[in-house]
Amino acid sequence: MDVPSEVQDKPLAPGLYLVATPIGNLEDMTLRGLRVLRSVDRIACEDTRQTQKLLHHFGIKTPTVSYHMHNEVSRAEELTAELLAGGRIAVVSDAGTPGIADPGGQIAAAAIAAGVPVFPVPGANAAISGLIASGLPTERFTFHGFLPAKEGARKTALEALVRDGGTHVFYEAPHRIVDSLADVETTFGAVQHVVIGRELTKLHEEFLRGPVGEMRATLVARASVRGEIVLMFALAGTSSEASEAKGSIAAEVAAVMKAEGIGEMDALKRVARERGIGKSVAYRELQREQNRRR
Ligand code: SAM
Repeated sequence: MDVPSEVQDKPLAPGLYLVATPIGNLEDMTLRGLRVLRSVDRIACEDTRQTQKLLHHFGIKTPTVSYHMHNEVSRAEELTAELLAGGRIAVVSDAGTPGIADPGGQIAAAAIAAGVPVFPVPGANAAISGLIASGLPTERFTFHGFLPAKEGARKTALEALVRDGGTHVFYEAPHRIVDSLADVETTFGAVQHVVIGRELTKLHEEFLRGPVGEMRATLVARASVRGEIVLMFALAGTSSEASEAKGSIAAEVAAVMKAEGIGEMDALKRVARERGIGKSVAYRELQREQNRRR
């Protein structure tokens, strides 16, 4: 391990510093992050008032400038000009790692394009914090940011997820988590294992782990769902393969239709439930079989 730069007591090199800040626990602010925030000429903040609380806590008096979704492009140009003149600028978001579902990416790209050095100053991040304590596979994972807010787009996004055994990681708003879990249930079946990480690193940190149907019922039973949430699940290729191993879905659907006198979609729903797979997975399997027969 190299001697930490803060021990070297060297002046900070000119360039752009992407500094992670805590996601709820001030102890997660790194020593290097603090040194950088103290030493730069300016701190570009997603919300200056929010960052002031952090700076005040650590007694840092560095000037701040706003840098958010609505002025990201114009501010990136202005800050790049300052960087080209030899400036040292830090970028922070309200919480966590800048550029991850937060502003920071544009300025990093602009600085790189202008030939300015860009330094990561890593630290807290909700997705990684949730993932490492999820109990789900960590060798391979995909971070998707927020799921679409609208049901149709959300279902389409869920159906498009790769089933490679890796973990899918999402950010979710508390007022949408129940609806999103309902869509996960419809798409992958009630037995799909999910992990919900809530209020990570905070006083009321909570992990809910189990079948999506049960997890949804747990949250529905609460008076309200509050706090910040990471939703995670892994899609093994196995549920659909296991279903295929149970024999022809078309034949089973036809048998249920005949026995119960119900339509194809109702029969498909029933078969999907019995096989422990989502409706859309069952539908795709049915279509695959029908196409093979054509
Ligand atoms: N840049 C941040 C990071 O590195 O994690 C993420 C910013 S994004 C705008 C905010 C979302 O991240 C929240 O809505 C929530 O889904 C997730 N998040 C942030 N802090 C969290 C926490 N302490 N526990 C769980 N999820 C969190």
